[in-house]
Amino acid sequence: MADIAATVSETVAQPQTVEDVLAITQDPAATLVPAADKGWFSQITDNPLFGAGFGLMGLGAGLAMARQGAVRAAHMAQRQMLVTLEIPSKDKSYLWFLHWMSLQQKTASAGLGLGRSHHLAVETSYKQHDNGSASTTFSLVPGPGKHFFRWRGAWIQVTRSRDTKMVDISTGSPWEVVTLTTLSRDRHLFTELLEEAKGLAMKMQEGKTVIYTSWGPEWRPFGQPRRRRLLDSVVLDQGIKEEIVADVKDFLASGKWYYERGIPYRRGYLLYGPPGSGKTSFIQALAGELEYNIAILNLSERGLTDDKLNHLLSNLPERSIMLLEDIDAAFSGRQQTEESGYGRSNVTFSGLLNALDGVASAEERIIFMTTNHAEKLDPALIRPGRVDMKRLIGNATPHQLREMFLRFYEGKETEADEFVKRIQETGRPVSTAQLQGLFVHNKGEPQKSIEMAPHLNREE
Ligand code: ADP
Repeated sequence: MADIAATVSETVAQPQTVEDVLAITQDPAATLVPAADKGWFSQITDNPLFGAGFGLMGLGAGLAMARQGAVRAAHMAQRQMLVTLEIPSKDKSYLWFLHWMSLQQKTASAGLGLGRSHHLAVETSYKQHDNGSASTTFSLVPGPGKHFFRWRGAWIQVTRSRDTKMVDISTGSPWEVVTLTTLSRDRHLFTELLEEAKGLAMKMQEGKTVIYTSWGPEWRPFGQPRRRRLLDSVVLDQGIKEEIVADVKDFLASGKWYYERGIPYRRGYLLYGPPGSGKTSFIQALAGELEYNIAILNLSERGLTDDKLNHLLSNLPERSIMLLEDIDAAFSGRQQTEESGYGRSNVTFSGLLNALDGVASAEERIIFMTTNHAEKLDPALIRPGRVDMKRLIGNATPHQLREMFLRFYEGKETEADEFVKRIQETGRPVSTAQLQGLFVHNKGEPQKSIEMAPHLNREE
């Protein structure tokens, strides 16, 4: 409209004075035909002043309309010809996509595309190996901005945008959206691409245990998925492992039984005993055996509140064992170790009980709690319904001493007996973690372990 107004005012501006106007209107040509004979429209159009104005106005309007039309047509064509897909950072497939994209980046030299991108971001993954060493890998993913790449014969535009004003309140990280755009005829590629990205992520987890930790009120994978720990690698006293494994498997097979009786479908276990006796290792191995993941929660964590705890416990990641470690430390230790770091969380004891009893979700819930000091636990916490099975995982028994020895020194039966005898003679308790340390130190040398046995835990 601004254009039209401008055009009109220019036209009217031509006659400068009243005389000018009169001169025009008194034009003999203008008065030849009686006004009454003409329609009102032609009266106006025949008037040279208005005629010129309307002409220009019409031209301006026409141009503006044409321009608008062109823009609209372009939009329409874009809508018809292009498809876009938005993946917000909140969505699961966001991380899958970025990981997938980072691999495209690696194969860029093979002609896949991102190679020429000028704006990259780094994603660092840190991997802890079983032997304790760690390696770090960097992958380059598209940074915020626009990128193009070619995949399966189609061009795809990736726009990674970061909203600086919006923050994902659960994580505190800026809100991000990745938008993919491609030609409409290639729309099927989006589904294929997401499937491929998901498949890749799943493959990385195959045969692995994902460890989740709490991140604000939500669960996030912690580090890379770890190789499954085998049950055989954990040596507990006779029968304990088998008993717990059978109980959990029976529970998992009894969904209908619980449902029919209207009982919340959950089961709690308490493993107690001195540190280094294999409690955590056993839970890891159990998760591996069941092909479950583990969601670990530390109740002393800073910023954890009753509400968050409740939310976390009622929204466990699928197929996960919930592990509450050192459950005694969060409460009994609070007063005495204020300055050493405990007690930073705001979880109350009743908040914990509420969360444990919380609304039953449709999924089963398996909770393992561990403690080094069962005697410090409030009876309310370990009553049936919250804890259905308690087992002591203690220091090494003669059975464990022997089994551990034979796991490290295969077939050395006589030496194993000798080793057990020597340890028993000391009369001092030894943890299975200490045994592991000794056998690793004397790798392939059973005799040395036997010689060192009397010195274990000796107060010099
Ligand atoms: P806890 O949770 O009881 O403190 P962990 O499971 O963390 O003990 O064990 C610490 C280390 O000792 C791990 O590396 C684990 O492999 C080893 N370990 C401890 N107990 C056992 C066991 N019973 N069998 C095999 N390994 C064990």
